Amino acid sequence: MSEKESMFWAEQLARQVIERAKREGKTAVIKCGQTPSGGKHIGNLNDVVRAYFVYRLVKEKGCDARFSHSSDDRDPLKDVPKKLADLDGNWHDSKKFPEMKNFLGRPLCRVPDPFGCCGSWSEHFTKVWEKGLNALGIFPDIVSEDKYYKEGKFDPYIIKVFENIEEVGKIISTFQETKGEKYMPFDAICPKCGMLSNISSFDLKNRTVHFMCGGKAIKKKRTEGCGFEGDVTIREGKLQWRFEWPAQWGIEQATFEPFGKDHYEGSWKSGQVIARNIYGIEPPIPYVYEFFLVDGQKMSASVGNVFIVQDMLKIIEPEVLTYFYTKRPGKQRDLSLKNIQLMADEFDELEKKYFNPVDDGKEMENIRAAYKLSMIKVPDRQPLRIPYAYASMVAQIVPEDKMLEKAVGLLRSSGHVKGELSGEDEKNIAARLKLSKYWAENYAAEEYKIKVLDKAPEEAVKKMSGGQKHSLELLAKELQKKGFSEEELHNVFFDAAKKSGITSKEFFSASYLILLGKPAGPRLSSFILAIGQKEVAKRLEKMK
Ligand SMILES: [Zn+2]
Ligand SMILES: [Zn+2]
Repeated sequence: MSEKESMFWAEQLARQVIERAKREGKTAVIKCGQTPSGGKHIGNLNDVVRAYFVYRLVKEKGCDARFSHSSDDRDPLKDVPKKLADLDGNWHDSKKFPEMKNFLGRPLCRVPDPFGCCGSWSEHFTKVWEKGLNALGIFPDIVSEDKYYKEGKFDPYIIKVFENIEEVGKIISTFQETKGEKYMPFDAICPKCGMLSNISSFDLKNRTVHFMCGGKAIKKKRTEGCGFEGDVTIREGKLQWRFEWPAQWGIEQATFEPFGKDHYEGSWKSGQVIARNIYGIEPPIPYVYEFFLVDGQKMSASVGNVFIVQDMLKIIEPEVLTYFYTKRPGKQRDLSLKNIQLMADEFDELEKKYFNPVDDGKEMENIRAAYKLSMIKVPDRQPLRIPYAYASMVAQIVPEDKMLEKAVGLLRSSGHVKGELSGEDEKNIAARLKLSKYWAENYAAEEYKIKVLDKAPEEAVKKMSGGQKHSLELLAKELQKKGFSEEELHNVFFDAAKKSGITSKEFFSASYLILLGKPAGPRLSSFILAIGQKEVAKRLEKMK
């Protein structure tokens, strides 16, 4: 079936989740998770948003549900990302925090907050993450794994691993050739240096593990241990990921969990066997999503090309960002920041269709589902939106204090706005002007960056044909005569070209060269109206 015909993906999942919860006679638990390692970007957001959609639909259908988000805060600090976000979501070069690399190999919950505003590294970056989610209207129940270890919630699972250590070794060696049958999937936290370290034995009666602090292989490097030898309780350590994840399913009683393709080949495959054979539980309904590229590149915290929700909300509305995740997750996509106007246009189109339905087939059902999930709250009537690229043009030309007034005037003359505007409409317009201006200054492709020249560039004038010069003189005269609408102005262009014996293409490139210094630009009629007819006429006359 094509994408248009099949049932909305999250709807399909919601039905499966409800069916399983009913069969088991339990609350449906939609689970997702994250390691608060610092560079949690909009690719990681897949996990939470995909789960959130399913959660919303399950709730809407009247099924009792919980939305649980694990914070894997006992994971070790593996590296210090190139840049770190403060609580306001602003970036700082991690060179400002050179001492952080001394904490590599320590659990994130015991690494200090580089900014000093929270109790730990993990607490800080969980807060940054949560703030981003909340701005999208997403409020999962974020649970600290560190707290669970301390409370003993992991005890039964750790004990099962040790009780069945032979079986554990057999299972893991079939999935990971490098791990022998003597493998112990548990690390202790060294009481002396705080580093996570492999263990050598366990004592089930006393619930302790024995180890010599010798560090651990992290990202193909080895952290140095302090050499301490002794015992700690099983609450002062952590199950390794392949065992911790299935234990989380048990603790949370997870019904459903989405995860990335990277987990699918590895920990998901072994996780199902561990869940059933070691823990005696049923794994959640899985859902695998693809990662996406940003402007054709993979995001990477160590490279530094990561974008967080807070970055995105400087250039698009929350609903436009959320909309991106309503798309089918099983296909690799490219999110283009350079051309973010395309995504905004797509969203506007979706919204238009939602409020002006044409047919009532499957496609309309999908449109309704995608729109409702994108919106924190669905408005009663179609909100007014200015096309993004248009907003960006206006915002770059018009001075900040007159921006809204001028934009509304232009929208009236271009036919985008008729009648009275509500306060809500004005708020929407003002927001998009601000967002698209920031975008133009920081991300936009070259053709969307507009800087109106004070004076026509001499080179361009010299190269111009007689016909081109003549057409611009005609245009200047017309612009002085009366106020035009966009459409009327468009006719003026074609007339001027025709009367001067040049093609319309030659006319347009001459106009852009004079006004912008480049051969192409935004739609000329709206562009001239945004600058102001008289203003443009003055510039054209100065050219002579
Ligand atoms: Zn902090
Ligand atoms: Zn140590």
